[in-house]
Amino acid sequence: MTSPAGRKDELAASLAEVRERIARACAAAGRPAEEVTLVAVTKTYPASDVVLLTGLGVTDIGENRDQEAAPKAAAARAEGATPRWHFIGQLQRNKVKSVIEYADVVESVDSERLVTALDRALGERPAPLEVLVQVSIDGDASRGGAAGDDIWRISDAVAAAPSLRLGGVMAVAPLDWDPDRAFEELAAITGRLVTHHPDATTVSAGMSGDLEAAIRHGATHVRIGTSLLGMRNPLR
Ligand SMILES: *Cc1c(COP(=O)(O)O)cnc(C)c1O
Repeated sequence: MTSPAGRKDELAASLAEVRERIARACAAAGRPAEEVTLVAVTKTYPASDVVLLTGLGVTDIGENRDQEAAPKAAAARAEGATPRWHFIGQLQRNKVKSVIEYADVVESVDSERLVTALDRALGERPAPLEVLVQVSIDGDASRGGAAGDDIWRISDAVAAAPSLRLGGVMAVAPLDWDPDRAFEELAAITGRLVTHHPDATTVSAGMSGDLEAAIRHGATHVRIGTSLLGMRNPLR
């Protein structure tokens, strides 16, 4: 068990390394480093890590399970940590009401039914919720994500929903693909999306193992867990 001060030093060191990787990847791609937002994925790690990371300047936190994220966001808030919360996991419609209580961005919208459920649940809320359409790059929908014409149908539905704002797309590179090929494919999809929805410029792509390739192909957000917080229990 690491002491709180030890954990802070540990996170500060890994954060510096990740920021350096992002900066180097941006430089290599001829992009300003400010173009890429780091989303720290804290799943399986406690709220105290969220508090430490926000204290170290991390502005965006990603979580993939509502059961874990809802109490974590509440606990972090009680400690004064109010980052932007990104929901990045498969979202069941019966969790929508809970997720909109803390999420600032829902990155994993991959069906029109989910668009409708989110829009209804948000009701008359004044500020729209930012939504990314999760794209399945290899068309295998079993791991989540929309493919083919569904991408355009869902994007249009988000854009037309009064309580939602279409931010762009999110994707995970397929396990058996070269990440460059995967993110090139995603860039082509993004290019087509912005011709219809010019403000939908967010590209959430890249994780601990492939952030360089994602940045090379235009990612605006990288979602980093392992490289920042350490290895997770393989069961989760
Ligand atoms: C867990 C997770 C990440 C972070 O993955 P690492 O390889 O630990 O950096 C990114 N995106 C999604 C959707 C995840 O579920």
